[in-house]
Amino acid sequence: MTRYSLRMSRIPTVAIIGRPNTGKSTLFNRLVGKRRAIVSEIPGTTRDQIAQLVSLPLIDYLLIDTGGLGGGSTDIDLEDDVAAQSLLAIESADIILFTVNGKELLTASDQEVASILRKKRKGHVPVILVVTKCDNPDLAATAPEYLQLGVTEYIVAVSAPHNIGTDELQTTITKHLNALHFQKTTNYSLQTTHFPRIAIVGKPNVGKSSLLNALMSDHERSKAPRLISDQPGTTRDSTDTVIRHKEKEYIFVDTAGLKSHAYMKENIEFYAQLRSIQAIAQADAVLLIVDLPQPISRQDKRIAQMTMEEGKALIVLANKIDLLPPAQREEALKLLRFSLSFCLFAPILPCSATTRDGLLKIFPLIEIITQNRNRFIATKDINNWFADTVQRHASSGLSSCKFITQAEGVPPTFVLFGADPKKIKISELKYLENSLRKSFAFDGTPIRWVTKKK
Ligand code: GDP
Repeated sequence: MTRYSLRMSRIPTVAIIGRPNTGKSTLFNRLVGKRRAIVSEIPGTTRDQIAQLVSLPLIDYLLIDTGGLGGGSTDIDLEDDVAAQSLLAIESADIILFTVNGKELLTASDQEVASILRKKRKGHVPVILVVTKCDNPDLAATAPEYLQLGVTEYIVAVSAPHNIGTDELQTTITKHLNALHFQKTTNYSLQTTHFPRIAIVGKPNVGKSSLLNALMSDHERSKAPRLISDQPGTTRDSTDTVIRHKEKEYIFVDTAGLKSHAYMKENIEFYAQLRSIQAIAQADAVLLIVDLPQPISRQDKRIAQMTMEEGKALIVLANKIDLLPPAQREEALKLLRFSLSFCLFAPILPCSATTRDGLLKIFPLIEIITQNRNRFIATKDINNWFADTVQRHASSGLSSCKFITQAEGVPPTFVLFGADPKKIKISELKYLENSLRKSFAFDGTPIRWVTKKK
């Protein structure tokens, strides 16, 4: 077996901070760029994502949008909120993008953010001042004022809606990250083709640590999995755990270790979320742990959605089945399936970290879903299937498409060529996807669709 290096560098984080109305969200969306995946709105999870992966030719980074953080929503809370968000972001970021509104003079709130930055930022973390809403970037007049804020000499003017200055900003971010020794790893999964990397995510107390401990222990009956290493140095991230099962190795990335973090008490949600996002971005597969006796939460759904958007394989572990009698267990599983109907492709595995029921089924399931995520269908086969499927659905916008092909890369991405791709409805793509899943094995993996004009 080929051995791959287990060393894995962390994805750097870039945080946008600034007072309200400095264009943070617009900047966020512009830097993240349009996603090709077709993601329909999932009730209860709309747009409150706090971070997204940005993939550039020379670097990947996680962009954190502080505009979406914080619980308070009344006006009175707002200022405190912004300060709290800024603090959190400052503490966890590798680079800070400090936004000021180029259409207005600097305000007292801008000064306050600058003051927080001066005091709280770690010495080595660079700040880039982003002057937003600059349709005609001419910094000559205003630059001295910005420099007087005393936080940075790096200033970039942008107009996010018009895409002015954003390339320059990405270049500046890349340069700074490279200077901090962050490098692009072309595909975070590549190094681990034979060592699937699996993120264990879920709300606090659902049993993430218990599950990992149960997977690591080898006192159990037959061929139980064995812990190989969680030594720092073997893997760079101390939360990586390598487990061997039936001669194969799996890297589990635990997001539960957070409890010991100094900031954890107050900001548990934020850090848990950030850690999950980071773990998901660097994983091949995600084990979403839910507490079966409890109703599924918005946060669980959000993690499932994020996993889909990032194109990672997904298994839902319904933990703590030992707490429910069989009839109630079935009911709870049905309800869970219903609540996760937006990701029907993800298998649900009932299990108990305490009794070890279902535990060892995790490994074959990981094998299957990671294989499915890498599945490639020959062009001839996929076109035969397509002709057959569209014939049965002749009246649809799909019938204008004559050719389909699978693009390279993961997750499986299909490109449809048609005379008028705009006519294809989301519902038709969903129909196509359902049919594709019936004909080919894609359990556990999201599928992406791209339409192109022929
Ligand atoms: P984490 O925060 O997700 O890592 O959760 P923990 O692993 O710390 O577990 C939280 C609590 O749930 C602990 O008291 C565990 O003993 C308990 N727990 C975890 N898994 C199970 C299970 O399968 N059955 C039962 N009955 N309790 C469990």
